[in-house]
Amino acid sequence: MPLHRTALFTLRSLLSERAATRVEIEAFRDARLRELIRHAWERVPYYRGLFERHGITPRDIRGVADLAALPLTSKRDLQGLSPEDVTARGVNAAKLITHPTSGSTGQPLAVRRTWREERLLNAFRRRAVRTYGRRAMDRVAYVGIPVALDPRNDRLPQRLLRRVGLPRFTVVDCLQPIPTIVRRLCELRPEVLSGVAGALWRVALAAGAAERARLRPRFVHVGGEVLLPAMRRQISEAFGAPVYDIYGSHEFNILAWQCRQSSEFHVCDDLLILEVVRDGRPVAPGQRGEVVATSLHSFAMPFIRFRLGDVATQGESTCACGCPFSTIRSIAGRMNDYLSLPDGRLVHPAEILGIVVRNASWLGEYRMVQERLDRVLLRAVPLVPPSSDQIAHLCHVVSGFLGPAVHFELTLLEELPLEPSGKTRVARSLVGSIYDGVEWSSPF
Ligand SMILES: [Zn+2]
Repeated sequence: MPLHRTALFTLRSLLSERAATRVEIEAFRDARLRELIRHAWERVPYYRGLFERHGITPRDIRGVADLAALPLTSKRDLQGLSPEDVTARGVNAAKLITHPTSGSTGQPLAVRRTWREERLLNAFRRRAVRTYGRRAMDRVAYVGIPVALDPRNDRLPQRLLRRVGLPRFTVVDCLQPIPTIVRRLCELRPEVLSGVAGALWRVALAAGAAERARLRPRFVHVGGEVLLPAMRRQISEAFGAPVYDIYGSHEFNILAWQCRQSSEFHVCDDLLILEVVRDGRPVAPGQRGEVVATSLHSFAMPFIRFRLGDVATQGESTCACGCPFSTIRSIAGRMNDYLSLPDGRLVHPAEILGIVVRNASWLGEYRMVQERLDRVLLRAVPLVPPSSDQIAHLCHVVSGFLGPAVHFELTLLEELPLEPSGKTRVARSLVGSIYDGVEWSSPF
């Protein structure tokens, strides 16, 4: 598809989620996938090698119908590679915006994008939030992990907008004690409240009557972690507002957003191709499988049939609300428990996992379990075998954070055992988990 037609289609789609018909979206996806595969073949060493090993050339992929011929890629496949292997030739990897991992994903992976790609993906996220009623001048508070602005992501348009006070967006650090977060939100009085599901749920439970009266956002949107029905209800009751769930990831920004009418999730079909597969084959509506996605707008560091490690229930090919997007019914993504410590602290798991990731560059994948109040285990799969000094250093810094009353133990494994349900419980507390007692075999 010529560049100007891609740009026009995308611009029109971003202005309104109902601008394009299903037929137009499908034609766009076929054309864009062909371009992506040719680009990855010609310019990205990792994909060239992968396709060659599987005997695939760009001619074999005429559109989305041929997607199943392409091999899957997991985080593990990309983790040990250099930026030059996974980014496109001709793109200066040092100039790309790099997304650091917070640690709460369970598997760190640096994601790189150009400035333009970053704007574009953010625009797709904003389109989703607009469907919930977000207005340009809304005061928005986000309860999550603050990330320092990458200087490569700070150009003149953003600086000019900041000068006039836009966007009216404040990040409230979710690693702070919950009462501090509640106080800060009461000062901000956001018109739109957003954040990671677990933190907003705790804020909702902690807010007293006076605070609830002050906190009256028009709507709440959450993401990053599994939102259970009980959590949704309690957040909604506390703030007197509807709660919507957005399914996102570092690699894709937004993948799907909850429909206001049907409660299914609209897949962002004009941004990516999302497949729900079991044993590499797509599942039928109502069935569960693993999420595999291909970004149609990430060319600097492509993601092609990338395994997100999440489990979803496939929905219908169009939504009952009349939107031109396909749907998924539910997503069982990451579950992260807060940890209660013997000294009385209630700690967000990202605080500990952030320390882990910063102090163990050798780490591939990991899970943290608080077995008892005074015992925390980290099960880790190394990318390269760590030295005894590296292990001792990690244990020292994590133990220093947890305090002398907690015994911290590190176990190195070749691979992590899967949860029977297929969920990713990155941080789990056996002392008390909001996710315990949920029937996972049925959609929720
Ligand atoms: Zn819908």
